[in-house]
Amino acid sequence: MRTQQLKLFAWPVIALATVFLTGSVASPDPNPAWGFFAHKRINRLAVLTLPPEMMVFFKKNIDYITDHAVDPDMRRYATKMEGARHYIDLDNYGKPPFEELPRQWLDALLKFTDIYMVKPSGDTVLVFGTRKPVPEFMTKDYKRWFASNVMPSFYQDSELLPADSLQAFFVANNIDREAPVSAFYKEHLSEHGILPWNLQRYQRNLTEAFRKRDARRILRLSADFGHYIGDAHVPLHTCSNYNGQKTNQHGIHGFWESRIPELFADENYDYFVGKPEYIPNTDDWFWQTAFDSNKLVDSVLNLEKGLRNSFPADRQMCPDTRLGRVGVYQCREFAKAYQDAMDGMVERRMRAAIHDVSSAWYTAWVDAGQPDLSNMTTNPLSPEELEEQKLLQQAYQQGKILGREEEH
Ligand SMILES: [Zn+2]
Repeated sequence: MRTQQLKLFAWPVIALATVFLTGSVASPDPNPAWGFFAHKRINRLAVLTLPPEMMVFFKKNIDYITDHAVDPDMRRYATKMEGARHYIDLDNYGKPPFEELPRQWLDALLKFTDIYMVKPSGDTVLVFGTRKPVPEFMTKDYKRWFASNVMPSFYQDSELLPADSLQAFFVANNIDREAPVSAFYKEHLSEHGILPWNLQRYQRNLTEAFRKRDARRILRLSADFGHYIGDAHVPLHTCSNYNGQKTNQHGIHGFWESRIPELFADENYDYFVGKPEYIPNTDDWFWQTAFDSNKLVDSVLNLEKGLRNSFPADRQMCPDTRLGRVGVYQCREFAKAYQDAMDGMVERRMRAAIHDVSSAWYTAWVDAGQPDLSNMTTNPLSPEELEEQKLLQQAYQQGKILGREEEH
């Protein structure tokens, strides 16, 4: 997990102005990822494209799906594991078509995880891992062991492994080793983001929720899922230079995904995206979405850089009120010039996001056997869910993103 960093604007004058005008740059960002604005629009508009059999349920709950479009970003303030679900640094895996990158979660986690054991003497040794491959003949068995021992620990956010199961694996594979007193793993996958695998998981969970006709779970997962699919359409969510920090373009993240949609989307964007489509292979489709976003990264960065150099410097940043907060943001004309230079890319990605969100929901419903969604009632929140909502709110108010911090 990347360490916490508070990144100030690259332009010192702007940073100072921001501090002066807002009192602080460290207060919770009101507007993370695609902006609260765009995430809410995407979820809401996706509902409106659904077929009547789904609409009976989704339309009734459109406010829930809209309001909770930003829950995953709020969770980034509450849990360390959340951040990685929103992005993937594809540049960490070479060049397209990224053949070395396992498309399935289990394969990927297995490839980028080191397993350690502690010997009775107290010494810690690497058993298998990125620098110590598993011998060919035992890969199948190892995968099985990994699936039933490492995966559960991962989801429990614990790095401890049952030492006796490792010993049992040694014995079964005729590996002559002293029995470990304890075992643990270190994974090197989530530090570069796990977005596409997370989408695959949501697709399966949502399908299951439809199958069980579990109204509350359907709503919760649909709202979250819409958020992550939205993120996958943002080019800067697919590279390590996600806020222009490597190219001296700090602030570009929020410029692209928050400032531009907030200024222009409701005025100018064509939100009509047509009916959802059934997606036969969602696992591949999510990867393709990330790859499509990634292809746009160079344009996103280069066009902004060119504009920064050519646009009158004193007309790039303007004081403005945004979501009730006074600050210094990209001027309308400057934002318009960037949008025009990208030839409508932000609008295209937002439209694609709306269509893909409804298509993913629709596909889950079809795969679940098109359950009847009429007359489904949503029960009030359970005491645990209420408590979770409260904690989310508190963590968000306290405003410290755990893991990667973005600036919007
Ligand atoms: Zn996000």
